[in-house]
Amino acid sequence: MASELPETSPTRPQLPANLANELWQRYAAQQKRKITEPAPSQSPSEIRPEDYLSFTTHLKSSTRILGLFGAGLSAASGIPTFRGAGGFWREYDSMTLATPSAFSKNPALVWQFYSYRRHCALRAKPNKAHLALAELAKKKPDFFSISQNIDGLCQRADHPAGNIQTVHGSLFSNRCTECTYVENDNFTDPLVPAFALPDDVDPSDPEFPLKDIPVEDLPRCPECAALLRPNVVWFGESLPQEAVTRIDDWIAGGGTPDKSKIDLMLVVGTSALVYPAAGYIHTARARGARIAVFNMEEPTEEGPSSRLRDGDWFFKGDAAILLPKLLKGIIGVVAEA
Ligand SMILES: [Zn+2]
Repeated sequence: MASELPETSPTRPQLPANLANELWQRYAAQQKRKITEPAPSQSPSEIRPEDYLSFTTHLKSSTRILGLFGAGLSAASGIPTFRGAGGFWREYDSMTLATPSAFSKNPALVWQFYSYRRHCALRAKPNKAHLALAELAKKKPDFFSISQNIDGLCQRADHPAGNIQTVHGSLFSNRCTECTYVENDNFTDPLVPAFALPDDVDPSDPEFPLKDIPVEDLPRCPECAALLRPNVVWFGESLPQEAVTRIDDWIAGGGTPDKSKIDLMLVVGTSALVYPAAGYIHTARARGARIAVFNMEEPTEEGPSSRLRDGDWFFKGDAAILLPKLLKGIIGVVAEA
């Protein structure tokens, strides 16, 4: 049995050699930094008065706004991210579980990881950052966002579907490994009876033995009976083409030349290390955008904040505290979900 499991040490994702190498170097540098640097202080989310004034003034006059959301957006909702240092689930580095090869080797293990993540996301509630961004999209119809999150919390915060594009899929979408079948918005928990757990069991605890689930009891395609898989983007897989096209269309102003300018970009809860997400910051800037970054982590040489220039903003702290304050002039007071 043990020989069928993925390696527990980080292994290089299966990507084209040059891209894999670049991502691996960045990942290694990030890990090294986390080991060698002291843990970030839990200082309160503070906004300097001059930043507040310049940001809110610019926001008011902005019409074309691009958003880029990452895991930090959902941090206040208590969603485990399984990224970077500490990105382990049980004894497995999550980077080795979120791969096509891990799934083909041991679909029951990978499915149980995703079943746990679905369960966590369903128990979580959208936080004030999700709600504030959803309200902003209602007040500013040309505020369009790219979300790297798969937890569905923007959707549950009633973020207008026309104003957001996910790029890493969804925990609540599944697709067939053989045919073209896709199901969306399946919020059943557990997805199949074999994933049911007693109430007091935490499947993240390596002490708790995982079930040895036969493949026939895993989620199956209703069309062809083959294995279903989570409809998420794994390491080594490309972003869905329709997502990329929709984002590119918005950036290009939908063919309207006078709409090709972007006034502002809101980068929320992501270090944006992963391309092409990081590339969107450059794209927005090339179209005139000023960049505002909201993140817990201090600027690093690789993060988007390091690429900040005069006229940009870095707001350090929890997005669920920062965004309601900074967007209040447009959206009013954000109530709890
Ligand atoms: Zn099928």
